[in-house]
Amino acid sequence: MADKVIPIADLRRFEASTSPVHLRPMVQALPASGWLPDALGRPLRDLRISVTDRCNFRCSYCMPKQVFDKNYEFLPHSDLLSFEEITRLARIFVAHGVQKIRLTGGEPLLRRHIEALIEMLSELRTPEGQALDLTLTTNGSLLARKANSLRAAGLQRITISLDGLDDAVFQRMNDVGFPVSDVLQGIEAAQAAGLGPIKVNMVVKRGVNDEQILPMARHFKGSGVTLRFIEYMDVGATNGWRMNEVLPSREILSRLREVFELLPLSAAAPGETAERWAYADGQGEIGLISSVTQAFCGDCNRARLSTEGKLYTCLFAHGGHDLRSLLRGQAADRTPATDQDLSAAIAQVWSSRIDRYSQLRTNESTLLDDGPRRVEMHYIGG
Ligand code: SAM
Ligand code: SF4
Ligand code: SF4
Repeated sequence: MADKVIPIADLRRFEASTSPVHLRPMVQALPASGWLPDALGRPLRDLRISVTDRCNFRCSYCMPKQVFDKNYEFLPHSDLLSFEEITRLARIFVAHGVQKIRLTGGEPLLRRHIEALIEMLSELRTPEGQALDLTLTTNGSLLARKANSLRAAGLQRITISLDGLDDAVFQRMNDVGFPVSDVLQGIEAAQAAGLGPIKVNMVVKRGVNDEQILPMARHFKGSGVTLRFIEYMDVGATNGWRMNEVLPSREILSRLREVFELLPLSAAAPGETAERWAYADGQGEIGLISSVTQAFCGDCNRARLSTEGKLYTCLFAHGGHDLRSLLRGQAADRTPATDQDLSAAIAQVWSSRIDRYSQLRTNESTLLDDGPRRVEMHYIGG
């Protein structure tokens, strides 16, 4: 794509903040051209939208029971962006170059009438007139019931999280006693509904579920489902992350290669997080997501919209930019933002983005001591 010149704005008037008063753009709106590079030249392509902060699982690496107990205060419904608000923002993000939208959470299938949102988002088109790559990440618990209605609403494909095939191991991971069989039924229902290609994500924690790597690989080999192994990450501030619980992708790969012949594949798309390997016998592929040991900040094109409408430019960000206050006219001057205001706000935030947490951490080969509490995964999604 040809280079576009983005005018430099006075960022002091538009500083990154969770406070609504700072987010009123005072510069002329930048025209949305479908090409919006950040300060490091990375275009905005991928938008992850968290539709709820609630979940029916208590995965220890994401929403540990000790923290997310019956006293934990989830967001009241009025704080959540409505489907109309989400779609309005998504349309503006798409005008700035977003081509892929992933719905996430919390558990996105817990949001009532999620199909209505999918229907609305599926009608969006890129500036070139293309439909979006619209997908959703789920723990699979409600999928057997919902696969057909999701497909009918316009969802194209789906990613399901599953951390093992052994019930005792999986139940230790989800910590609510949820059985593997129900998730497997959900995966089958998604396949039958045509929600493909299906990906299954497995977070690997050393000493907790790493024995499940080979059974999972055997189970999904030849099934048409791509299994991806994710390194356990230090997101948020509640999961008590320790480096010695991370099983590096290199080690996962060598365990797999002791059993299967695997051939390297090239990345499917720029900004792709997974390193891909094909089974030499043509029985599909696996992916490795090395979020901890191998930074992929260099071409990170992902923005995240939290459940309550804050824009995050990195999974490890401390604060978001409050778009909901702009939308609802709750900012200092109490006037609801026009589309042009919102467009300028998004452009301003993204074009000043310099995040590259994983890369810095890899360079330091240590966990960054980076000050205040980081945002939680269940609130901005994976
Ligand atoms: N509830 C849905 C699910 O589990 O698929 C969607 C939200 S969940 C936050 C999105 C993804 O983030 C899941 O695949 C989950 O396994 C992953 N995840 C959550 N915490 C993680 C961590 N500490 N390290 C690596 N991946 C994590
Ligand atoms: Fe829920 Fe997904 Fe987090 Fe597990 S990873 S607690 S299923 S939001
Ligand atoms: Fe993107 Fe931040 Fe992750 Fe780097 S650390 S890949 S910038 S989300």
